[in-house]
Amino acid sequence: LMQNRPLLISSLLEHAAAFHGDTEIVTRTVEGPIHRYTYAALARRSKRLANALTRLGVTSGTRIGTLAWNTHRHLELYFGVSGMGAVLHTVNPRLFAEQIEYIVNHAEDQYLFFDSSFLDLVERLAPSLPKVKGFILLADRARMPASGIPNLLCYEDLLAGESEAFDWPSFDENTASSLCYTSGTTGNPKGVLYSHRSTVLHSFAICQRDGFNLGAEDSVLVVVPLFHANGWGMPYGAAMCGAKLVFPGPAMDGKSIYELLRDEQCSFSLAVPTVWLGFFQYIDGTSGLQPATEIKLERLVIGGSAAPQAMIRRFAEQFGAYVLHAWGMTEMSPLGTSGRPLRKHAGLPLDQRIALQSKQGRVIYGVELKITDDSGAELPHDGIAFGDIKVRGPWIAAGYFRSEGGAVMDADGWFATGDVGTLDGDGYLQITDRSKDVIKSGGEWISSIDLENAAIGHPAVQEAAVIGVHHDKWQERPLLIVVRKPDATLDRDTLLEYLRPLVAKWWLPDDVVFVTELPHTATGKLQKSKLREQFKEYRLPTD
Ligand code: AMP
Repeated sequence: LMQNRPLLISSLLEHAAAFHGDTEIVTRTVEGPIHRYTYAALARRSKRLANALTRLGVTSGTRIGTLAWNTHRHLELYFGVSGMGAVLHTVNPRLFAEQIEYIVNHAEDQYLFFDSSFLDLVERLAPSLPKVKGFILLADRARMPASGIPNLLCYEDLLAGESEAFDWPSFDENTASSLCYTSGTTGNPKGVLYSHRSTVLHSFAICQRDGFNLGAEDSVLVVVPLFHANGWGMPYGAAMCGAKLVFPGPAMDGKSIYELLRDEQCSFSLAVPTVWLGFFQYIDGTSGLQPATEIKLERLVIGGSAAPQAMIRRFAEQFGAYVLHAWGMTEMSPLGTSGRPLRKHAGLPLDQRIALQSKQGRVIYGVELKITDDSGAELPHDGIAFGDIKVRGPWIAAGYFRSEGGAVMDADGWFATGDVGTLDGDGYLQITDRSKDVIKSGGEWISSIDLENAAIGHPAVQEAAVIGVHHDKWQERPLLIVVRKPDATLDRDTLLEYLRPLVAKWWLPDDVVFVTELPHTATGKLQKSKLREQFKEYRLPTD
């Protein structure tokens, strides 16, 4: 005899406005200055937006595209669009223009909201986006450019003309709420379509202590872009518990991040590892900072790619901050595992604790997870056997938008993630590779991630990538590709000697190449396909 109230995204906003109405949302705007308002103001403006969308003819299910940074306006779109029953389609502006064109057309977005940083891009793309009825610049009237974009509208004008009264409609919780394309390395990007139900359930999961341990006391710097897998669920999760939100806008360099963490007294932050490399570089290269006292970070989520041990250690030693190493993917809303300790880990010596944190964490309730061998048989939880990671659960994709890519689940509803890993006796997952990145040497597998982690532990290494290169005898052997820290000296033999005691003998890379930079994908991951292409003809000295 329980009430059957639908789980709707609008309820998150209503809750935050009613019970955390004066909690701040702070943005470094695209224009530069800091903007501040509250959850109460967010709710009022989201309602104005919903009225504006209604006037533009947007109805339930209409896709609304965004090309935007992390700002309060993007947050208003998160709640205004989904709240009224339309679908928020966050487009990753770092993709190639042709991919963006494909995605917007495939989604059939009817309106495209964009930041001024993307004006040139939108001008170029507009003629090839026939379904888009209007382009809305996220700016005020004073900043509207003279532009040839047809049906160019001003966001602040749109909102100014509307009422703050809007009753969020009630509908089936399985209604689509947002859409995010994931760019696989082969074929066209594929759309993951989330529902109100999956989103609210995922929010409960990230707020819980063994998820992101999120609460009303937190001040959260959301560096992970809102166009990357729902900003890892933060807009919704923060509203659910009334956490203060801090958005960096387009400025994700070390200095800007440092200043926001300091000025907004952030206790929590989320980002991919590369962002923190820039942050540390800024600290190391700037005199007069007092990082240990100015920065109040208690914990942070690092995910999207493996968090290097050296980074986990530095956060612990310099800030007393606990890195929650998390794993997931766009198809999983995105969270699957989070690196929270168990009761028995209290008081672990730092070295052991860091080893534990280097694993990608434990499965959160709501996600079922198993690892299997090539025949599909389940592998033991011994921390050694590695196999394909499969998941199922209420916030995991059942298929891609418009059935692209065909069936994605097996007969029992398991989704193959394409990741390879181990599970230990305590349930900690360790990602050893993407299945296509694992190095197959003489029939055995070598984890490229483990080797990269070991290499990045060397003080002169800025970034490292390991790929399999053809070898006549072993089929493939590891090649280590390294970016040195600025001004650091390091040669091949010194680095190999450093690695020798850290990895199994037959895992030791056959060669090291130094480069000035490594290629990254639009979501900040190492682009190994590009490296493999670049080093296709590379002849190893052992071959
Ligand atoms: P995306 O859908 O763009 O978020 O990419 C998801 C993929 O990123 C996963 O399938 C993994 O291959 C990788 N990934 C995410 N988190 C981690 C992590 N903590 N360690 C290693 N790889 C990760």
